[in-house]
Amino acid sequence: MQSSWASLFLIGNFFAFGYAALPLQILTWGKTPPPFHITIWATLVQNPVQSICSCPLPDTKRLSYPTACPRIVSKDEWGGRPPKGPTEKMNVPVPFTVVHHGGSKDYCTTEERCAAIVRSYQTSHMDSNGWNDIGYNFVVGEDGNVFEGRGWEAVGAHAPTYNTKSIGICIIGDFTDRLPNEAALKAVQSLIECGVEQNKIQRQYQLIGHRQNTASSTVCPGTKLFEEIMTWPQWTPDPKNVKGFQTNWD
Ligand SMILES: [Zn+2]
Repeated sequence: MQSSWASLFLIGNFFAFGYAALPLQILTWGKTPPPFHITIWATLVQNPVQSICSCPLPDTKRLSYPTACPRIVSKDEWGGRPPKGPTEKMNVPVPFTVVHHGGSKDYCTTEERCAAIVRSYQTSHMDSNGWNDIGYNFVVGEDGNVFEGRGWEAVGAHAPTYNTKSIGICIIGDFTDRLPNEAALKAVQSLIECGVEQNKIQRQYQLIGHRQNTASSTVCPGTKLFEEIMTWPQWTPDPKNVKGFQTNWD
């Protein structure tokens, strides 16, 4: 790059992207292509704490950005049926998030196929179990999409004793022997973050797998997925309600 063009680029970036990136532009000058400077700027300005320190910072790592919420495929979009009876209003923000798997080795990586499986879950829950609607608050596919179930505002039917106090998220498939793909895991994490930002889930929420619900006898969400969520920061081996008691309420 000619020096005059280089100066223009530097000055342009300085005014366009702010003071924060300038020292890094100088440090990395000549070593990296221009998009890298923009990446540095974006990282620094949008998430300054994590840019500097990768250590665990429970509150600062959840800086609020409206763009953090994933796209949620609405019931209309996936061809869901309306509830056949009244659902209970959720008292938000809830203190728990419960992770499930579908429990059948039926996987999907396209929105069309995932939507068909979500419809089959709803049919099973409404017609076989006799529930008013699909049990989960949300369903996530390995296509990376989040599908609306009962949503944030209605009590689900997925984990007895936790239903009125949690958002239940199910990943489509059986994760006994393998993990969900990265797209699905990221979608779950992003959805939880979104719930925290929108005050649907308490900031200090506890994350559990369905098998931790003593009122259920289940291996859900599958051993591999359970081992994965055990590594997530807010997973708890000892779920307690907000007053510090064990969760055998209700
Ligand atoms: Zn489950």
